[in-house]
Amino acid sequence: MTTRLLIVGPQGSGKGTQGVRVAEAFGVPVVSTGDIFRANIKGGTELGLKVKAITDAGNLVPDDVTGDIVRDRLSQDDATTAGFLLDGYPRNAAQVAYLDGFLAESAAALHAVILLDVPREESLARITERAKVEGRSDDTEEAVAKRLDIYESETAPIIETYEDRGILDRIDGVGSLDDITARIFAALDARGLKRA
Ligand code: AMP
Repeated sequence: MTTRLLIVGPQGSGKGTQGVRVAEAFGVPVVSTGDIFRANIKGGTELGLKVKAITDAGNLVPDDVTGDIVRDRLSQDDATTAGFLLDGYPRNAAQVAYLDGFLAESAAALHAVILLDVPREESLARITERAKVEGRSDDTEEAVAKRLDIYESETAPIIETYEDRGILDRIDGVGSLDDITARIFAALDARGLKRA
């Protein structure tokens, strides 16, 4: 059984945390472009050096760079066999088209897209809290505002694309972590997707 999932939501929606739980339950790897960039920055790789200033400012890394990374990761055995949970990609219409093209090469498609709905004030409050705890270099006030703007202008429109395809599950992202996970599981169960 192969399960291909995507989790979408504004920064501070809790998609990282929920994504890990869902991926574990389905026995698939989380593929987070943000995590891949952060690991490369930390490791001082060529890619890391290339993207550090961009991510620190809260801007999007160019689509061709990001697309190559996703293609490489999704081509690995675990992802082709079990599937994957994408977190943070695609983030705009061009990335949706690229992912569609890549998946079509192996006659594959996404099974479900989980949208974590969280009001702007709530996500801002959560990021402010995260900034204190994690000290991410891109959690400055300017970078956070930039990322929220990009989410609203470029990422929110892709939600409609997936809604039109009938694969979008809109989940209320306010509540306890366990309640939110249960809501996600209920939506995926209703699609007949089987947990591992
Ligand atoms: P995230 O952890 O998902 O918030 O990603 C952190 C940063 O990595 C973003 O602010 C972007 O600079 C970069 N990034 C992550 N995913 C993408 C993507 N799909 N396209 C472009 N840039 C990305």
